[in-house]
Amino acid sequence: MNNTPRKLWDFQGGLHLPGHKESSNQQAITQVSLPDKLILPLQQHIGQPAEPLVKVGDKVLKGEVIAQVHGFVSAPLAASSSGTVIAIEEHPIAHPSGMSAPCIIIETDGADRWRWRRERIIDYTQLDSGELRNHIRKMGVVGLGGAGFPTFIKMNPRSGNIHTLIINGIECEPFITCDDRLMRERSDEIITGITILRHALHPEKVIIGIEDNKTEAWQAIRDELEKQNITDIELIKIPTVYPAGGERQLIYILTGKEVPSQGLPVDIGVICHNVGTVAAIARAIIESEPLLSRIITVTGSGVQQPGNIEVLIGTPIQHLIEQCGGYSSEPNRLIIGGPMMGFAINTDQVPITKTSNCILVANEKDLPQKGAITECIRCGECAVCCPAGLLPQQLYWHVNARDFDKAQDYKLFDCIECGCCAYVCPSNIPLVQYYRYAKNEIWYQEQEYQKASNARNRFEFRAARLLRDKEERAAKLRKKKAAIKKDGDSNNKKDAIQAALERVKAKKEASNIKLDNIDNLSANQQKMIDAVDQRRQQKANEQQQTDLRTR
Ligand code: SF4
Ligand code: SF4
Repeated sequence: MNNTPRKLWDFQGGLHLPGHKESSNQQAITQVSLPDKLILPLQQHIGQPAEPLVKVGDKVLKGEVIAQVHGFVSAPLAASSSGTVIAIEEHPIAHPSGMSAPCIIIETDGADRWRWRRERIIDYTQLDSGELRNHIRKMGVVGLGGAGFPTFIKMNPRSGNIHTLIINGIECEPFITCDDRLMRERSDEIITGITILRHALHPEKVIIGIEDNKTEAWQAIRDELEKQNITDIELIKIPTVYPAGGERQLIYILTGKEVPSQGLPVDIGVICHNVGTVAAIARAIIESEPLLSRIITVTGSGVQQPGNIEVLIGTPIQHLIEQCGGYSSEPNRLIIGGPMMGFAINTDQVPITKTSNCILVANEKDLPQKGAITECIRCGECAVCCPAGLLPQQLYWHVNARDFDKAQDYKLFDCIECGCCAYVCPSNIPLVQYYRYAKNEIWYQEQEYQKASNARNRFEFRAARLLRDKEERAAKLRKKKAAIKKDGDSNNKKDAIQAALERVKAKKEASNIKLDNIDNLSANQQKMIDAVDQRRQQKANEQQQTDLRTR
């Protein structure tokens, strides 16, 4: 392990927030009991939803793929336990809008029977990066840190020149402690996942960043590096500032390089993975285990026994709360994610997905109600704390006026939705909700535009095809007519030649008439007759030639 101090860069903005982590980070990770039903949304990540491979009534085994990728940015979905598919239907999902989406619903049989894991990889070093990437794709691994980008895509960097692999062990959002516990308890999986990634990507440097307030996690990772005698991975303590765990912020802190606006880390030769994702990569490769479960923090004053639980994807939140002793009081708010970047849901029937990291059962003590929303007073506090260097109040005005073009000019899509601006706003304006709304609206409009554009392309293609068919038919007709005309012309010529020959023959026969007064001719008479015959013959030949030419 490299202990050379690394220069760190400060990103602008950010906040020092109360952590609220003690209530959940003291107990070891527990396993959740098997729920009666698993609700598996077909959309578990950024990109295209998967397509079902099963139908109602099918029996499925744990780990069996039940929905296959649809499009490039997509990940397959496996049954997280054995049972029977009882429905494929719309069901409420974890979404800020409270929307429903297509889900595969499995009634579990309690046996938790596995499919045969025939693809278990004994020695991953025998595989090249393409084979590792395909296997990780098949196992349905997506980023567990936030947006859920399919992991295999990050293993095929466009530039092909990755100099730094960063492992994100920062968990800066208040209340959430699942990555902290993972690092403390499963550091071996994390280091194995990192070595697999290193084998696939061949970066020059590997850096693990952990906040300086997570001393146990830092020590556990350090011990594991020493145990595995790994000396060329840097383990760096990062100052605890929110949102240091944002991908762009962490890359800047560690390298001093800024990811370009609208760009990706790969554009500057960096790949960043969350610790939970690398642990899932290790399981996917070493155990051939699809992404069937994840660790979730269940916390807040509204739940009896806060803690971290390993939970099957598709488990209803209600089941998790029951596992944590149930509600301690009528919850004020049920939030998926943390208080800064999470969103409130209005039912505990929604299922856990691959990207859910926290259930915050909050009451007044955790999240005091904000006062009434008032007019923006142009204090500029939001711009001071924005870690993305944006002008949040300008964005707010443009979004409020539905001037989405202007909002994009002010780099709306560089907003990481960290919530700092809304947190400090003295007017209590829910700024992030405005930005989320604007982004969704722009995406929706782009989708509609794309649909219209596809329809127009299809129409133009069809019109061009019909015109081409018509022209081809006309050309064929012209060709056919020309062929008939040619036939007619050639028949006429044949007839003319035949007539001329007939005439010559007739003349010849006429010239062969036997005359009575041509016997006993003198030599002189004969000579004269021959000369006349010769001239006549010559004339006939000339006439014949003339006839042939004029026909
Ligand atoms: S913090 Fe709130 S009140 Fe102040 S400028 Fe920003 S939006 Fe306006
Ligand atoms: S939510 Fe967006 S605009 Fe507000 S502080 Fe964070 S990055 Fe800046």
